[in-house]
Amino acid sequence: MAAADAAMRPIAALPGVGPALVTTLAKLGLTSVQDLWFHLPLRYEDKTRITPIRDLRSGDTAQVEGRIEAVEKGFRYKPQLRVAISDDSRQTLLLRFFHFNNAQAMQLAVGARLRCFGEVRHGANSLEMVHPQYRRLADDATAAVEERLTPIYPTTEGLGQKRLAALIERALTLLPGDEALELIPEALRKVYKLSSLREALLYVHRPPPEADLAGLALGLHPAQQRLAFEELLTQHLSLKRMREQLRRHSAPALHGDGTLRARFLEQLPFTPTRAQERVAAEVIRDLGHATPMLRLVQGDVGSGKTMVAALAALAAVEAGYQAALMAPTELLAEQHFRHFHKWMTPLAVNVVWLAGKLKGKARTAALASIAGTAQIAIGTHALMQEGVTFRDLGLVIIDEQHRFGVHQRLALRDKGRAPHQAARGRDTDAERQHTTDGCNLTHVPHQLVLTATPIPRTLAMTAYADLDVSAIDELPPGRTPVTTVAIANTRRAEVIERIRVACAGGRQAYWVCTLIEESEVLQAQAAEVTFAELTAALPQLRIGIVHGRLKSAEKQAVMDAFNAGQLALIVATTVIEVGVDVPNASLMIIENAERLGLAQLHQLRGRVGRGSAESSCVFLYQAPLSGMARQRLDVLRETSDGFRIAEKDLELRGPGEVLGTRQTGQLSLRIADLARDAYLLPSVQRAGAVMLRDHPELVERLIARWVGHAARYADA
Ligand code: ADP
Ligand code: MG
Repeated sequence: MAAADAAMRPIAALPGVGPALVTTLAKLGLTSVQDLWFHLPLRYEDKTRITPIRDLRSGDTAQVEGRIEAVEKGFRYKPQLRVAISDDSRQTLLLRFFHFNNAQAMQLAVGARLRCFGEVRHGANSLEMVHPQYRRLADDATAAVEERLTPIYPTTEGLGQKRLAALIERALTLLPGDEALELIPEALRKVYKLSSLREALLYVHRPPPEADLAGLALGLHPAQQRLAFEELLTQHLSLKRMREQLRRHSAPALHGDGTLRARFLEQLPFTPTRAQERVAAEVIRDLGHATPMLRLVQGDVGSGKTMVAALAALAAVEAGYQAALMAPTELLAEQHFRHFHKWMTPLAVNVVWLAGKLKGKARTAALASIAGTAQIAIGTHALMQEGVTFRDLGLVIIDEQHRFGVHQRLALRDKGRAPHQAARGRDTDAERQHTTDGCNLTHVPHQLVLTATPIPRTLAMTAYADLDVSAIDELPPGRTPVTTVAIANTRRAEVIERIRVACAGGRQAYWVCTLIEESEVLQAQAAEVTFAELTAALPQLRIGIVHGRLKSAEKQAVMDAFNAGQLALIVATTVIEVGVDVPNASLMIIENAERLGLAQLHQLRGRVGRGSAESSCVFLYQAPLSGMARQRLDVLRETSDGFRIAEKDLELRGPGEVLGTRQTGQLSLRIADLARDAYLLPSVQRAGAVMLRDHPELVERLIARWVGHAARYADA
């Protein structure tokens, strides 16, 4: 109990932590002492030794000590301070500063002794460090070096490394002994060669000088892997538990008479593929049971998941219940709304729209409709928010699952419960007990999850432990394969010419701008710049622009114009990644393609090749391309099979490669990386089975530790 106390103690209880710091730490997701234990270093700096300048090589990160030989203030392009130091090895190292104040310039005087830490690079005449960390040393005194590697933590504005590190050190002094802290039984730790948690935590925060820095940098050190194992194990157990407990609830058995579905299929301009028919049948069968369905429909980009969703929704409506369809972006949700509106109007099925941006009277009307006569509700995550009450929700459909978290899914599921319960939010412990005992069964809606991200088997077993899976493994007929080429950005002019020619021939094109930054502002700026460039280069074309900073009506207006053929080219950020469907668009340019994950590129490319026109996709990359990046782009040039792409992605994505976390789906992991640590998953599953069978009380505590109050598993 004492251990739990120390762990859950709020950070504010630590000496020296005031309200301002509490707010800053909360931005990092750190609120308890335990959060500090699990806030792991991003990397380490080795300041345990001094390297003679003679031994430096370009690319090293090193600590050196020397005396200033010469100082030069220059103004080439911008102010610059150049400081030459040398040491007993009689070699010179150049330090360069572009930002400096007068005090600094004064301090860096000839004859002063400096200790510097930084990355070594080739300069014009000698090796150099740009903006090294440095401090002046007293003249002859010898200053001690660090005894341990210096951890560098992820931090945020207003919180310096030193302060954060000191705080984590303080938290570590509260780390209890093994008996209190350890939640994986020794027998299992032996089998899977796991050190104790205490040992692992102390190691990653305070690695000794001889530690394997390369292994640590890659996250592959046994101490890090020990922590990743525990996290993955817990996620697995938590998903298993959620599923188990969901199964104890009942769902409305939806037995429709099929009339709406039959009429829907009649008016559809195409015949469903066999795969669509099979998957729809699997879903409809599940809906007929009083056990809540929890099914993932996996189908490659363009495989036609939307009509399967429509069939499922109609089955709910036929049985007198409501269905909700939720999409991760407003753009995609709106597109669904338009399709459903078109399909459902002739059937006299009432479809209502709800998004966060809907305000005032329109919102009030939508909410009233959802609580009353609406039969299908379509929208963004706004559908899950408080204040949205469904009359009788029988089915929840979530499109493009990879953008949503487990807990978001649970929130929507709660909407199906008796209103007095849903409104109350978190249940008390007593009720939770009640619920898990199965005495207090409530109705929950069925859940259908649609994803284009094919999940390799190992991942599916763990990350999606709570779902059944159906696959739409066939594309509608008549699709033309997309020709894919990779072209260096130096040949940008040729690519622009290609657009001109294609659009002159009546084709339409996308130009996708990508930036690593998650910031919508920067992404929008990048798109604006490209828009200006292309408008200048292609004056004869009508060009539109779509990015996340536009109002949804503006976005929609541009998409509508594109859909109607009034625009030839759209410059867009990755907002168009999911679901957007304009069959006449047959050329796509993806800028900086090398920066994106394979799954994301595959998604983007899936926006073309939807009609009968010959389609192509150009990956415009920044030369030179690394070997790894080349291999990855090659995978996409060779295949358009999403499943193979996902497996290759997992295989190729080395640790340290930039990758989007979203395709690892619903789990938000603090330490483990599903790509890097996928090899642990079979062990995680075996260990999980043992834990569930022999140590249910430890399972509880693991879940409390890692998933915490965010997990609504207990009242699922
Ligand atoms: P996704 O699985 O990527 O969500 P969509 O449901 O958006 O795919 O379908 C992609 C396109 O294919 C849409 O234009 C849709 O109307 C069309 N489509 C779906 N099923 C078929 C089919 N069986 N035959 C022909 N076209 C189809
Ligand atoms: Mg879709």
